[in-house]
Amino acid sequence: MPVESIECPKCQASLTYEDQFCPSCGVSAAAERERQRVFAAVHAPKLASARNWLLALAAWYVLGNLLGVATAGDRLAPLVKQIVVALGLGLCVVQLGLWWWSGRAFLAAAVVSLVLFVTVFTLDAVADPTAIWKGILLKVVFAAGLTRAVSAGVAARQAS
Ligand SMILES: [Zn+2]
Repeated sequence: MPVESIECPKCQASLTYEDQFCPSCGVSAAAERERQRVFAAVHAPKLASARNWLLALAAWYVLGNLLGVATAGDRLAPLVKQIVVALGLGLCVVQLGLWWWSGRAFLAAAVVSLVLFVTVFTLDAVADPTAIWKGILLKVVFAAGLTRAVSAGVAARQAS
């Protein structure tokens, strides 16, 4: 009767049920299975919801600037309005790229998203100090969401 074999959860080498350690990569089979179970139950859902923040931010860059232009009336020249809309679209495209990248390198993409977000609103505030309070609630919500995304990425990295 052939001995039934299972796969190493880490390197997929074949193990027997008696093997406590993988002969190929040396990982403890039980510990690796437990690590994968915790990752799937705890970290994977957090990363998935954090990725939604990165996607929502892309939408907000373009919608926020469109709204700003629509409510500006005659306060902004037509050329300035076009620049503001183009900047919003450009940021949206960059943020969509970061969202895509976060499926491969989550932590790096989350950190870059947070840095970009802080940079954009610092420049915004320098260009127009009265703009600081515009949409302040959403800014706080996004800053909190991105900070949570970064910490979820750090926790997931430590767990993998
Ligand atoms: Zn292995």
